[in-house]
Amino acid sequence: MAPIQKECDYLVLGGGSGGLASARRASGMYGAKAIVIENKRLGGTCVNVGCVPKKITWNAANIAEHMKDARAYQFSFEETAPFNWGAFKRKRDAYVKRLNGIYEKNLKSDKVEYLHGTASFIDSHTVKVLLDDNSEAEIKAKRILVAVGGYPNLAPVEGAEHGITSDGFFELETQPKKVAVVGAGYIAVEMAETRLFIRNDTFLRSFDPMVQEKVTAQYEKNGIHLHKQSSQSKLEDLGNGKKKLHYKDQSGEGSIEVDTVLWAIGRSPELEKLNLKVTKVAQNDKGHIKTDDYQNTNIEHIYALGDVCDRGFELTPVAIAAGRRLADRLFGGMKDAHLDYSNIPSVVFSHPEVGSIGMTEPDARKKFGDDIKIYSSNFTDMYFAMHEQDEKTPTAYKLICQGKDEKVVGMHILGMGSSEVLQGFGVAIKMGATKADFDRCVAIHPTASEELVTMK
Ligand code: FAD
Ligand code: NDP
Repeated sequence: MAPIQKECDYLVLGGGSGGLASARRASGMYGAKAIVIENKRLGGTCVNVGCVPKKITWNAANIAEHMKDARAYQFSFEETAPFNWGAFKRKRDAYVKRLNGIYEKNLKSDKVEYLHGTASFIDSHTVKVLLDDNSEAEIKAKRILVAVGGYPNLAPVEGAEHGITSDGFFELETQPKKVAVVGAGYIAVEMAETRLFIRNDTFLRSFDPMVQEKVTAQYEKNGIHLHKQSSQSKLEDLGNGKKKLHYKDQSGEGSIEVDTVLWAIGRSPELEKLNLKVTKVAQNDKGHIKTDDYQNTNIEHIYALGDVCDRGFELTPVAIAAGRRLADRLFGGMKDAHLDYSNIPSVVFSHPEVGSIGMTEPDARKKFGDDIKIYSSNFTDMYFAMHEQDEKTPTAYKLICQGKDEKVVGMHILGMGSSEVLQGFGVAIKMGATKADFDRCVAIHPTASEELVTMK
């Protein structure tokens, strides 16, 4: 059967955070004829195997924590409050499915055509789509956006396939009892359960040293067994759901039997099926598509954004913002529209939560030398007033200020509620707030974040 022929102004490859946002703005707001191609589920990584199911699972873990706190506040209830993982997963899946439907409805209301299938380039203006019924469509487009995201890496270790990644984590039908997590980034820290294998001494190493040290120490205090300076040589499937991980760490070689090994060691761009080479679009040494400040690639009418591009921010709001600005520029007549990648706030849903915006202290010292002033505060949130000493989790804040007027160039916070606290402070820092501006805002008492406007 001959392929169905189609033409459009804007062909968007990938129906995830960035692709959907860009296509909807181009079509819904500016009337461009846009087509989106998605080969899995609408919403992409964030909705299906990322932010959304992760945050719901984190909420469940938080509730378990609050149940412990409730006892400190003299509530008495059964020692065990059984958690039904299977029922929880089914409910979480149903929520995600509902979101998939909402995303499809949104595309319809913005008049974006949606094809479910796998895209691959035929040449730099034409894309072939293998549709679900095995028929093909061939689409010629004036402009093409590559927003195909990434996939989680498996370690280069014999038997690595016996482990799972974050994708597999969200498929687990039963709660694994003994888990080994390998990695030291966002995902490892958000999903850490019993054992964490890191290849250096701390995790979250792209964060300020205060965050690295405090979160690592707190995880150790919480009983998570950290294998520092470790590497893995082999993962064996022992049958009966058991796996054996062979490793080396500071104490020498060892092995451990677990139910699940979770690789959380970073992600790579999802380009295998795209046949990108025919377009001559340039990539960096890790395969990410090279882009300039305007999401342009080296090929005039091809653009890239989100996790597949080389801007170094694998975050949903970054992909969305870049996608919307790109549509504004290409179809809305806003010639200079582009995402400013400076001062992007980011949080880690660890226990305790971490929030960060701007420069770390080492980065600021490298750039400004001694022309910086550090304000920091370590304290115990009043929430823990009723807890025993060993039940308390730390709160720590750090402001990095630069120059005579003490412009805030970095803010790093950890402690309860940090993920919610950061958004508002992010606005102030993006506007160029100084320490004096912070101090002019009257504190809200009693909160933890009041400390941020009263630091000496
Ligand atoms: P994606 O959302 O990945 O979308 C790309 C889409 O393209 C996918 O749906 C894919 O199926 C499709 N595709 C790929 N190849 C083809 C092809 N050849 N043909 C057709 N379709 C194709 N970010 C946050 O901001 N906050 C968080 O709390 C957070 N938590 C996360 C937790 C986890 C476990 C993970 C893995 C990620 C998390 N992220 C979080 C990161 C966030 O999910 C990503 O940065 C974001 O989804 C990237 O958007 P994107 O549009 O670049 O790609
Ligand atoms: P990250 O880039 O955050 O971290 C990868 C980690 O893997 C690094 O800490 C690195 O350790 C470690 N690592 C790399 N290779 C190996 C190896 N061979 N063996 C052992 N360890 C290794 O990746 P994630 O997979 O955690 O997450 C991917 C991205 O998704 C994040 O960068 C983030 O942008 C996004 N995300 C965002 C979230 C949020 O906003 N809350 C939540 C989850 C994901 P080392 O540092 O020691 O070199």
